[in-house]
Amino acid sequence: MTFGIDDLPVRDELRGKSPYGAPQLDVPVRLNTNENPYPLPEPLVERIAERVREAARGLNRYPDRDAVELRTRLAEYLTKTSGHAVGVENVWAANGSNEVIQQLLQTFGGPGRTALGFEPSYSMHALIARGTGTGWISGPRGEDFTIDLAAAERAIAEHRPDVVFVTTPNNPTGNAVPAGTVLALYEAAQAAKPSMVIVDEAYIEFSHGDSLLPLLAGRPHLVVSRTMSKAFGAAGLRLGYLAAHPAVVDAVQLVRLPYHLSAVTQATALAALEHTDTLLGYVEQLKAERDRLVAELRAIGYEVTESDANFVQFGRFEDAHAAWRRILDRGVLVRDNGVPGWLRVTAGTPAENDAFLDAVRELKKEQS
Ligand code: PMP
Repeated sequence: MTFGIDDLPVRDELRGKSPYGAPQLDVPVRLNTNENPYPLPEPLVERIAERVREAARGLNRYPDRDAVELRTRLAEYLTKTSGHAVGVENVWAANGSNEVIQQLLQTFGGPGRTALGFEPSYSMHALIARGTGTGWISGPRGEDFTIDLAAAERAIAEHRPDVVFVTTPNNPTGNAVPAGTVLALYEAAQAAKPSMVIVDEAYIEFSHGDSLLPLLAGRPHLVVSRTMSKAFGAAGLRLGYLAAHPAVVDAVQLVRLPYHLSAVTQATALAALEHTDTLLGYVEQLKAERDRLVAELRAIGYEVTESDANFVQFGRFEDAHAAWRRILDRGVLVRDNGVPGWLRVTAGTPAENDAFLDAVRELKKEQS
């Protein structure tokens, strides 16, 4: 018998659990993790090298612990793209929005507290809750994957969670949550506790609609989280950030590790922000490809959930996992998020999307 995880004194709530794991398989077309398919443009790669070289000269010292220059540039980006004035004091950054969410749950969740999300949604919200000792409450979504406001308000009033997650556009379903719904959920959460409401806008740049950043005005319990992993095409960089009342930024300092954002990370993110306009140009191409996927999937005869993200949920399958396998057999990796009857495909390059559409066209023929 080999010594394994069960032989270690791991925390009870971690026993028998699996780590987050989208398969990282070596196949020709990988459309499973909502990455941006376009490599960073060469002038940006050069600029990153320059900035990192500069940073390397100072690596004997700890980095700027408060990442002031980076937060200033992120605040400028948010102000410019949302029309809502965001200052450095409103912004906090960490290693991916996963770390932002972890810091928020360490601050506002934790043992004896609970967080609620409307599922199916981004599975890491529940996993980070578990990792931070926060109880998880699975809130309801309608048959069409929208948030039914009355049911959601009832769940908030009943459970009085300390943290409420609203993912818009939602992952894996793709649909956005109307601003009016988010406002009503905020009111319900304030009446019940008051609790913190975290709006996860990881995919907002791909949306037909606007960011909810303007809702931050006068709402100190609201947090908007963002990432450079999707629209900026920099999943490998690991840079997420939030916008909120300055008091929230002060509060997360209580749990952040000192110097959590390396000088290399800060330098790379600053270089990427200098190229925002080029990178957002790719977003426009991806939105057009996303819309093409929606139209073609419907033309083939699949059901599709309305998408405001860089991915599309499609179905329905009697056995979604078997369908996932058949598509993989044709060299295309999509995602089975465990939503019964549905799969999710990320918008790739036009050629990748063509390969995917060929695969699902054949699958449809096989199944009819
Ligand atoms: N939020 C949502 C809704 C996501 O889908 C993802 C990534 N899949 C993240 C947050 C985390 O992104 P990152 O840590 O790369 O910023």
